[in-house]
Amino acid sequence: MYLDTTNTGEEVQSGSEVKVLHVASEAIPFAKVGGLADVVGSLPLSLLQLGIDTRLMLPAYREVKSAGFKIKQVTETFEVDMGSHKAQAALLEAEDYPLKTYFLDCPEYFDREGIYGYETADGFEDNLERYALLCKGVLEAMPLLGWMPELIHAHDWQAALLPTYMAHLRNTKHLFAKVGTLYTIHNLAYQGNFSKEKRFALGLYGKPFSWRKLKYFGKINMMKVGIVGADWVNTVSPGYRDETLKGGPTGAGMEVFLRNRKREYSGIINGIDYNNWDPTTDSHLAFQFQGDWNDFKSANKAALLTECGFNLSASSKPIIGMVTRIVHQKGVDVVLDVVEDIVSLGFNLVVLGAGDRNYSDRFKFAARRYPGSVYYDFRYNEPMAHKIYAGSDMFLMPSRFEPCGLSQMIAMHYGTIPVVHNVGGLRDTVEDFDSAARTGTGFKFSGLYPQKAIGALQKAMWAYKDKEAWSALILNATKTDFSWKRSAEAYLNLYKNVIQMVKMDNTVSRRQLDDMY
Ligand code: ADP
Repeated sequence: MYLDTTNTGEEVQSGSEVKVLHVASEAIPFAKVGGLADVVGSLPLSLLQLGIDTRLMLPAYREVKSAGFKIKQVTETFEVDMGSHKAQAALLEAEDYPLKTYFLDCPEYFDREGIYGYETADGFEDNLERYALLCKGVLEAMPLLGWMPELIHAHDWQAALLPTYMAHLRNTKHLFAKVGTLYTIHNLAYQGNFSKEKRFALGLYGKPFSWRKLKYFGKINMMKVGIVGADWVNTVSPGYRDETLKGGPTGAGMEVFLRNRKREYSGIINGIDYNNWDPTTDSHLAFQFQGDWNDFKSANKAALLTECGFNLSASSKPIIGMVTRIVHQKGVDVVLDVVEDIVSLGFNLVVLGAGDRNYSDRFKFAARRYPGSVYYDFRYNEPMAHKIYAGSDMFLMPSRFEPCGLSQMIAMHYGTIPVVHNVGGLRDTVEDFDSAARTGTGFKFSGLYPQKAIGALQKAMWAYKDKEAWSALILNATKTDFSWKRSAEAYLNLYKNVIQMVKMDNTVSRRQLDDMY
């Protein structure tokens, strides 16, 4: 059986009978380190709007407690067995937030400065214990709360132990007998690897947690545990799903386990928050959209040229924008290799992004070498990001791999045409432009080589010079719908299917799963 979970058709009408608990390490507006927080903050709210009884569980970090939310304690203190000792925990709840959000309070693990402690090398020394406590604590807390989900949606390695705990409890506690589990991979590059010795500090006993099940190349690997233990596994685009199964750098070793789960592994594209990214109201922009894309683009382009210190007479040249982490995954090295060609072909290049020092220095050098054509801002700069999305003509994303990617979807919404490496979520969200049929939303190139990237940019330049073609492209791009509502509907279909599977006892049997480690 393979379920098409991207189908958003008739069958999604009401989710009122579905009860889902999301468990993750971060979510806006409570705690954010990266893109995971945006997804886990937005998806449950959209599910709520579909009528699903959706709730969220996060750790009670110090920054959550001190951020000014109204928070009350909703359970008595309870014990969580952590092997070496019993940790004292309790459940808190946000009183003034539309989504029922709980926080697992255990000061010993969460009341400290920072979320993962990544400021210091590999993060907090007890990160494995901290998130194991979250997973165990969720299941201890549910009965005390008097609310039981039908499905637990666990996000990324920090919540990866939950499905295995759940599978274990299904056999021993009737209360959990029919609760399904979904494990979402947001980026396979972050797997949660820990030393073998750590396994004694987890309070994990018995066969489900034997060393054989936890290990990958001599280390505890949480990603593997999540993939093997959940009733269903998904990731954030169908394209990335397919590529992770193939292996190579994108599969990051996990392809072995993913292939075993191929029939219960799917992809659903993330959404973007159209309230935050709205050209008609965007307060960071010099000019908001008032019904004419030509006016919007030319006014914001002029503002961007001024902001970058470029000559306004350069407005006939297309601006290539980039807003990205400056890291290897994003293919910025390929851009650096072709900066000279980009300039000589008559483009302007505006790059915003922080990250790897080595690449960052090279962008600084390029900006000094080509003043008036190349601009580089090395900060994390939200207002500037909005200005680049609105004022650029093209948006370049030569990612080596891309689980979903948000920037290309934002760019399209602002009438900026994506030029992307044909991988993962970029493959799924950008449609190649067909100049004869006037269909498509951008330009894609296959194979991450400088010549390929330049070839796609040249195609974009030809279209740019044809005013009618370019207007058609802008119209197509701005009509795309990557709202969270669309994603939430796809998730609702998936939830219903998984819940049904569990109710009918149709999940991969534990014995079969045993062979998959
Ligand atoms: P990833 O999550 O892998 O970094 P995505 O494309 O999914 O890549 O999301 C990146 C998000 O971060 C986008 O919303 C982008 O606008 C934002 N972003 C990245 N770098 C910066 C920066 N230097 N300043 C402002 N926003 C940034």
